[in-house]
Amino acid sequence: MSNLERAAVPSLCGGRGFVVPEPVRELLSPRRVPLGESTVVRRLLPNLGRRMVGAWCFVDHYGPDDIADEPGMQVPPHPHMGLQTVSWLHEGEVLHRDSLGSLQTIRPRQLGLMTSGRAISHSEESPRPHARLLHGAQLWVALPDSHRHTEPHFEHHADLPLVTAPGLTATLILGTVDGTTSPGTTYSPLVGADLTLTRDTEHRLPLEPDFEYAVLTMSGEARVDGVPVLPGSMLYLGCGRTDLPLHALSDTTLMLLGGEPFEEELIMWWNFIGRTQQDIETARSDWMASHRFGEVHGYAGDRLPAPELPPVPLKPRGRTR
Ligand code: MN
Repeated sequence: MSNLERAAVPSLCGGRGFVVPEPVRELLSPRRVPLGESTVVRRLLPNLGRRMVGAWCFVDHYGPDDIADEPGMQVPPHPHMGLQTVSWLHEGEVLHRDSLGSLQTIRPRQLGLMTSGRAISHSEESPRPHARLLHGAQLWVALPDSHRHTEPHFEHHADLPLVTAPGLTATLILGTVDGTTSPGTTYSPLVGADLTLTRDTEHRLPLEPDFEYAVLTMSGEARVDGVPVLPGSMLYLGCGRTDLPLHALSDTTLMLLGGEPFEEELIMWWNFIGRTQQDIETARSDWMASHRFGEVHGYAGDRLPAPELPPVPLKPRGRTR
């Protein structure tokens, strides 16, 4: 998915100053962002005062939307740099095309993982015909400096490993939970897991005390560490936990996101992550000049133009809030 906001406000993130070293319960409200003509997504990251959770730097939750009589998701070709995109669905399907020639339909609880490295472009669309409902999340993972110029590649993992307990199924999206590891490629210590809980399930999920964590509620109603959560909200949990108490009040689906605090300071603007103003300016002009980011074939429509850069220079933020 692309950040389609025309304002394209830069986000300066990373660094220890944002990380809460002890367990906290900070409920983040979503911001409603229009995506194309007919879709509205709920943006959880970046959020006011909370820009990253480990290397996770962008989280949109969308649906469930009835798109039976609509085109559904139609995100034209656009570029990425310095990040991985994670496409995660609970309902419906998304057709991914990219400048490497990948053409892949992504279905519920399959991992579509695109590593942009130095440059890639892609489009995402609801295929025709498509299922009635579309429900999912689009997430980005920041690449550390040592890997941000890596070669772009796309992975599709249709059968992800599961961890089960009474009333709970955890699907490993990235990283490891309770000794079970996703095949998805990661570049810094992090985890992403989809948690399905049946009503009245109580479970303590093991966590890494060195990681910071958040839980995105996809559907249902639950208490996470005692805090009531509803769909489209995200609860930031800080660091220093060895486990997380979950209590499903109805059939519930959650996404657990976590990772080692991301110490490098970043500039995130539009669909790019860089370290300097020059990184971002060069990426923007390369995209507009059809350099570096390749070409997406087969999408019925034009590529997305980049928004204007803000007049004030972008600088990575210091370590205090
Ligand atoms: Mn995208």
